[in-house]
Amino acid sequence: MERTLPKSIFQKFIQQQKGRVSLDRATADAIAHAARVWAMDKGATHFTHWFQPQTDSTAEKHDAFLSLKTSITNGHETVTAIDTFSGSQLLQAEPDASSFPNGGMRSTFEARGYTVWDTTSPLFIQQAPHGTAVLYIPCVFISYNGEALDEKTALLRSNEAISHAAVRLLHLIGNTDTKRVITTLGVEQEFFLVDRGLCTLRPDLKICGRTLVGSVPPKHQQLEDHYFGKMPTRVLATISEAEIELFKLGVPMKTRHNEVAPGQFEMAPIFEEAALAVDHNLLTMEVLHRVAHRHKLKVIFHEKPFKGINGSGKHCNWSISTDNGENILDPSVKPETNPRFLLFFVATIYAVYRHGALLRAAIATSSNEHRLGANEAPPGIISVFLGDQLNEVLNAVEEQREIKNFSQHQIQSVKVGGTILDLKIATLPPISRDLTDRNRTSPFAFTGNKFEFRAVGSKQSPSFPVTLLNAAVCAALNEIANELEKVKGDKTFASLEDVLVVVRMYIKKSKPIRFEGDNYSQEWVEEAARRGIPNITSCPEAFKMLLDPVHQKILTETVPIFTVPELQSRYHILNEKYVKDLLIEANTLKGLVSQYIIPSAFEYRKEIAESLVNLNALGVDISSVPEKDVLDKIGALTTKITELKGDLEKAVADVNETKDIVLAAEKAHHEILKVMDEIRTNVDILEQIVADKYWSLPKYSELLF
Ligand code: ADP
Ligand code: MG
Repeated sequence: MERTLPKSIFQKFIQQQKGRVSLDRATADAIAHAARVWAMDKGATHFTHWFQPQTDSTAEKHDAFLSLKTSITNGHETVTAIDTFSGSQLLQAEPDASSFPNGGMRSTFEARGYTVWDTTSPLFIQQAPHGTAVLYIPCVFISYNGEALDEKTALLRSNEAISHAAVRLLHLIGNTDTKRVITTLGVEQEFFLVDRGLCTLRPDLKICGRTLVGSVPPKHQQLEDHYFGKMPTRVLATISEAEIELFKLGVPMKTRHNEVAPGQFEMAPIFEEAALAVDHNLLTMEVLHRVAHRHKLKVIFHEKPFKGINGSGKHCNWSISTDNGENILDPSVKPETNPRFLLFFVATIYAVYRHGALLRAAIATSSNEHRLGANEAPPGIISVFLGDQLNEVLNAVEEQREIKNFSQHQIQSVKVGGTILDLKIATLPPISRDLTDRNRTSPFAFTGNKFEFRAVGSKQSPSFPVTLLNAAVCAALNEIANELEKVKGDKTFASLEDVLVVVRMYIKKSKPIRFEGDNYSQEWVEEAARRGIPNITSCPEAFKMLLDPVHQKILTETVPIFTVPELQSRYHILNEKYVKDLLIEANTLKGLVSQYIIPSAFEYRKEIAESLVNLNALGVDISSVPEKDVLDKIGALTTKITELKGDLEKAVADVNETKDIVLAAEKAHHEILKVMDEIRTNVDILEQIVADKYWSLPKYSELLF
């Protein structure tokens, strides 16, 4: 933009981006013109407003730069095709809002909704077939009355709110240079890649993104040979091609590696400002999907596509930075004497303590439920892991004593925050060790100079989780600033002593949320209950937290990022989506049972029955032959599965008939999931018995290796 726009126009745009002025018509027209010329130069024929309805994906509607110009010369009317793109087309469009999830805020007869350019996220161009391309305009999506219908509006509001609160706190301790604070986000994306041909033969994978039946093969991940292993050639080809496409879109992809489970991989970018990082994560998912298709692979973002092996997450690395790019959560050499670090660090921990249930709600989806709270998954408890060093820092501040162990090492370290290890191998250079070890089981862990919100699901947009995290931290910063103001008294700025008084208070308050042990253990479930930390195991229960008075007050008053109707509409949409997801899964499983599983079993049974008839004709005592045993087992299992399918049909009908969406979600959770699990258990035994040639669904061993 700087290269193509007149200087004054560019300056105005930058001022607008910082929220200081709004764009006037002439400036918008000038930007639109430059954008069109730039885009057409790269093959663009169309433009689109690109936005994020509450579907965990993005939406777009393409319009050509085409206009028809009519002129009359000598009484002849001539129509000429010309290219146009005006400032108002750049700034705003009007999609039909009634066809997107709106939680009752829009009715079909008043369907107006608006998309408005989010100038903090750069325009980009994506290639389309036949050498053409499309200009993308990142947007927010709001209703006729200005209510947020999308994921982004609330995220942008939460960014502004946290910036205000942070700047206020910084000014209290004398950091008056900082005018704006931003939240930074680095999203690690985990996913599975499976052969597309095989995937097409599995209706469950195709429709639901996860296998509803299928037994775990003898070898899966127990040898721990997949993590960081060599990438298969087809996978490397896919991922590197996706990276090239993403670089072209301005997404700074950095890391790629094999994950723990067979067929599971991870990609991560360099972190960016949160809202932009969210846009880029959504683009990453889109691009991966498209590129995998070209390589005859299918990318699976579901959190738990395969039973019995690791699921996928989306680790949201989150921090706060000043407008000078200084990371506020960087502990530096002596964190115990760094008031800025201590305040923000403790505020984040306190935020999780106060509003952990909100974070739990933010990650509640039908698919992520299998990763948190359900069978075979860790409990739904949100706690914070700090690591040895920072735990000791907080304990020492709390107990008003010197810090043990660490300060001594810090003086000798080559790297800030590291200690030196002696490997007794003279040919190796000295290596430094991080002061915090890793804890893979924590849902929310401090990792060196940022927090890592690990419980976020691989399939969901990071937007809502980051929005609620921002809101919770913002509320904590406000509260801490109020306390600090009191302690500071008449002084211009708070002293380190003042800060320590307040920090100590909040270390004490938030102590129960800190947990350094194994989050997957039964002991933690019991310990958390003793500490009063909630264990929320189902989505409907988690959604309720949004409307819980304490949390609702934060989201609608203290940090007003939602209006009450917006929050209620979200609650409605979340419940509705949950019910729909479970009904789709249940109906898919019904089809699998009657069209694939039972027919396979019957075919095999027929062969065995014929063989028994033949053996009988030869005079063999068929009551003790192994065929008889197989025949009986197939009979028992198919009877049981058919019965359970009947139960599932009843549960589906019950949920379908329940008009109250919240009640329907609870019923879906309690009735549908349980029967589906029972069906699966029986089908998986059957799979082990039926001859492979009759089993029509590709098995785990084929899908994963
Ligand atoms: P891990 O070892 O946890 O797998 P990765 O290297 O895969 O780590 O990912 C770490 C992510 O954290 C990257 O996206 C990185 O850019 C991001 N990150 C680093 N520093 C910050 C920060 N200050 N704020 C937000 N994200 C950060
Ligand atoms: Mg990683």
